[in-house]
Formats: sequence, structure tokens, C-alpha cells
Amino acid sequence: MEVQTGYKPHACRFLITDQNVKHLPVQPYDATREEGPLRHVDGVWYWNHTYTGEFLLEASLLLNDCGKVDFIRHHAQLCSIGGCYEQGKEGDGAAGRVIAYILSRDTQASDKPLIITDPKKALSTAIERGLSQICMALEAISGKLNGPLKLDGSVDSALRAALLQYAEGERKAATETAKLIGSDKLFRERLGAMVEGHFGLKSDVLAAELKKAK
Ligand SMILES: [Zn+2]
Repeated sequence: MEVQTGYKPHACRFLITDQNVKHLPVQPYDATREEGPLRHVDGVWYWNHTYTGEFLLEASLLLNDCGKVDFIRHHAQLCSIGGCYEQGKEGDGAAGRVIAYILSRDTQASDKPLIITDPKKALSTAIERGLSQICMALEAISGKLNGPLKLDGSVDSALRAALLQYAEGERKAATETAKLIGSDKLFRERLGAMVEGHFGLKSDVLAAELKKAK
């Protein structure tokens, strides 16, 4: 850990790493033995809230290890990742792309932190926000879609391809692919079926939109 006086209040900055940090101006910290500002006693974490706490993880943070995942506004200027263009943006774009990836690849790896279990099992607002963003980004709004594909099977193939393109950041190509789909309603119905097939849960956002369209 080290002291960071550039913050008000000053921060205790923790670097969580398994690398050799001898060259850094930090000192080791054992939360089970030290007096504070951070303590871990009998499985419970305590911290001194009169200071800012900062935790830097020198590793990939696996979604499956997380208790909950949400999409929040990115810092206005700062980012540790080179080539990031998310500065200052709300989390909607990220939500859309992550949910598009999960659905198009049908990967279960990060489902757990995206599902709510209390008071009952449901999709998180993170997922619902992502779905709403997908409909906007792929222009399945205000009757814009009017393509040749009408059958569930072919709509599903085009939808999966569009989602994957969108997830990979090829937004223009993704909207071109989505344009093949017969109508906004078909897009939303099949997206809803994909969500239900993957998560085993219905999307309230897509159901509400379908009701409006009828
Ligand atoms: Zn960033």
C-alpha cells in the first residue's frame, strides 16, 4: 500500500498483485494483522471511512468471480487502458455490447453476476439496459426495420450475426446486417426468445416494447 495525497480526503491506495513490487514505493499490508485503515476479522471487512480507499488490481478481473456486475459512467478523463474511448460515457454502450456478446456466443461464463435471485429470480437492470441499448443501436425502433427475412430461423441467424458484429465494435456493419430483418417486432420477438433461451428468464423491457407495438 501507499499514501496518495492527491485526493481529498487522502487515499490509502492498495495494489493487489502477485508480482514483485520491490521497485515501487509501497509497503506490504496484511489486513488480518494491521491496525487499519483496512481490517479483515472473522470474515468481515472493516475500513476507515474518513479516508478515500483505492484498490488497484494487477490482473484481469474475471466476471464469474464477481458477485454483481453493473455498467456505470466511465471517469471523465482517466483510464488505465490504452486506446479506450469510453471516457465520460454512461454505461449503456458497454451494457449493450457485453449483453450482445453473451447472447451471440451463448456463453454462460458471466451469467451469475447478471442474474438477481432476491426477492425472486430475474434479469438485472444491467441486462435490461443492454437489451434496450441493442434495440436502439441496431435501429429496431420506430418501424425502421423492413428487410426480406421473415422466418424465425433466418431472422435468428441474422440477429446472431448482427449482435456479434455490434459486440466487436463494428456498429455500422451490425446495423446493415440487422436491416435484413423483416420488422422491429420480429427483431424484438426473436431477441426476447434468445434471452429466454439463454438466461431462462423473460425480459420485461422487450415484453413492454412488444405490447406497445401491438
Ligand atoms: Zn477506459
